[in-house]
Amino acid sequence: MVYDLIIIGAGPAGMTAGVFAARKGLKTLILSKDIGGQVNWTTDIENYMGYQEIDGQALMDKFEEQVKELHLEEKIVEIKALTKEGQLFRVQTMGQEKYMAKAVVVSSGKKPKTLNVPGEIEFRNKGVSYCSTCDAPLFRDIPVAVVGGGNSAVKSVLDLANYTRQIHLIYVEDLTADSILAERLQGLEDLKRYPGHTVVEIKGGQSVEKIVLEEVKTKQRFELPVQGIFIEIGLDTNVEFLDKSVELNDLREVKVDCLCRTNIPGLYAAGDVTTVPEKQIIVAAGEGAKAALKAWEYVINIPEAEYRQ
Ligand SMILES: Cc1cc2nc3c(=O)[nH]c(=O)nc-3n(C[C@H](O)[C@H](O)[C@H](O)COP(=O)(O)OP(=O)(O)OC[C@H]3O[C@@H](n4cnc5c(N)ncnc54)[C@H](O)[C@@H]3O)c2cc1C
Repeated sequence: MVYDLIIIGAGPAGMTAGVFAARKGLKTLILSKDIGGQVNWTTDIENYMGYQEIDGQALMDKFEEQVKELHLEEKIVEIKALTKEGQLFRVQTMGQEKYMAKAVVVSSGKKPKTLNVPGEIEFRNKGVSYCSTCDAPLFRDIPVAVVGGGNSAVKSVLDLANYTRQIHLIYVEDLTADSILAERLQGLEDLKRYPGHTVVEIKGGQSVEKIVLEEVKTKQRFELPVQGIFIEIGLDTNVEFLDKSVELNDLREVKVDCLCRTNIPGLYAAGDVTTVPEKQIIVAAGEGAKAALKAWEYVINIPEAEYRQ
């Protein structure tokens, strides 16, 4: 079976693309590792129009409701490879399933960057976390470290402060978070800051027990006893499954023009995975809508016979 359109990813961009594609009558399949993407990691959304304030998961439930009303086909799978064979795209999952489509929208978003230090993989979900919104309640009255100096790191400290007073904030240079957020840290009297430091190792037994810090200038190392470490050092795009022929920029974002077109005819991209600036829900949703409408134009303008060659 050949779909008109396959959408990879079911965050705000992918789900919006799905709704617009279905309304245009495209036979559409959404393939995604989860429903909701990064929005699931956050509680308070205060900048999505129509809702003064809404919980991330609740907003994504609303998106999904709209997708389900249109009877869109969705499968929870991880994509391994996407290739173009003649006029058709072939999508392969980690489970070795294969799907064919005339056009594809890539809306696979971003994932947290890792520190790449010893212990990080070993203690993942055993004290190492990338999501304070999800995991902060597990660390009530427990000493934790937050790594990073940007908005996510500061938000993470503020989240954790609802559960524990023993927070260590570690960042390489200055705080780069928005001043409105950074100012909120002033109220946290017990917060210990380590500017000019990096984490070089995570140690423990069954779970995290301590981390090793290194002062960047002097290279001096010392241990800090913590039972949790929240790594908040930014995000990387999910592009591993893309063929090398798809053009990316230096940040490994998919290059798109203002019509969401990539350099491959029939391959569109939308949301955080792309070069479009401002990684926000409303932007991703808008780009998803555009990508689906442009994919529809592409599909209907190619004679059916060409897909069969
Ligand atoms: C902590 C946090 C707080 C935020 N707060 C706000 C806020 O208040 N307001 C705001 O506007 N924005 C906020 N954002 C940004 C917002 O979440 C993103 O801009 C938005 O989610 C991007 O949507 P997207 O659909 O492009 O990508 P994502 O949300 O990243 O969704 C990508 C989708 O692709 C899937 N996927 C990835 N790789 C694969 C694969 N190989 N195979 C199959 N599926 C795959 C994922 O499972 C996911 O479903 C926040 C982000 C974070 C991390």
